[in-house]
Amino acid sequence: MKIYLNGKFVDKENAKVSVFDHGLLYGDGVFEGIRLYSGCVFKLDEHLERLEFSAKAILLDLPMSREELAEAVCECCRQNDLQDGYVRLVVTRGPGHLGLSPDGCGPAGVIIIADNIQLYPEVLYETGLKIITVPTRRINAAALPPAVKSLNYLNNILAKIEAKKVGFQEALMLNDKGEVAECTGDNVFVYSKGVLYTPPLDSGSLRGITRGTVMDIAEELNVELREQALTRYDLWTADECFLTGTAAEVIPCVEVDHRAVGSGQPGEISKRFISRFREKVTRVGRMI
Ligand code: PMP
Repeated sequence: MKIYLNGKFVDKENAKVSVFDHGLLYGDGVFEGIRLYSGCVFKLDEHLERLEFSAKAILLDLPMSREELAEAVCECCRQNDLQDGYVRLVVTRGPGHLGLSPDGCGPAGVIIIADNIQLYPEVLYETGLKIITVPTRRINAAALPPAVKSLNYLNNILAKIEAKKVGFQEALMLNDKGEVAECTGDNVFVYSKGVLYTPPLDSGSLRGITRGTVMDIAEELNVELREQALTRYDLWTADECFLTGTAAEVIPCVEVDHRAVGSGQPGEISKRFISRFREKVTRVGRMI
């Protein structure tokens, strides 16, 4: 495996960063998870725009232009002979002193790893995922905007651990008002009485690229979509529920907090969105 590290391709064993990098010391940096489908980097431009926004939000100057980053992502896929896979693009604040201040840090580090990923077993796309609400709340936007895809994922990691400890693969996270925010690495959708709902970004969700794709599909399929604050009750009583994320793609969710969603089986709308999503992924993006 060849890793892109600050302008060079190096073997996995030699892909090393400084212990003084604030990305490691403080989670000071930003990242993207991107999918490659049949040689097409899905929505690469949207991912790079979100990376730029995340970097801007944390006052980190990206050391490469959008085009340079795009080319590096594609080249990393080519170097690893990948046609399908998952690309992790990471930008760190760079090596600095032991204090918190990023003054004196740099240059920013750019890391690209192209590999494979399977977040959930294939059978769950047929049978559906069961999720549970966990005590850890989604971080407040006044503390750190959840829209920033930063290297500091402890909030989500704690929620993931809590879910796993009680036998669930994914956690539902609420915001500090008790509204549904998102799952640890996925956005949430419910379908109720002919309308598709997802929490607005100010409920504490990331502006998911897959979420955006599902919104496009809703328009194509003439399904009414509302961005609206949701409670757990809305999920328990929905006809259908599904989660969206780059790694998870679109996955049906059939149980929330021990309550079956709808019939307790993946619903027809969820199946239509999953198949339309799978058709779309090789068409929207950049060929490597
Ligand atoms: N929420 C969080 C917290 C995430 O980490 C992710 C995955 N990046 C998502 C939602 C889904 O976003 P996307 O569809 O862009 O992968």
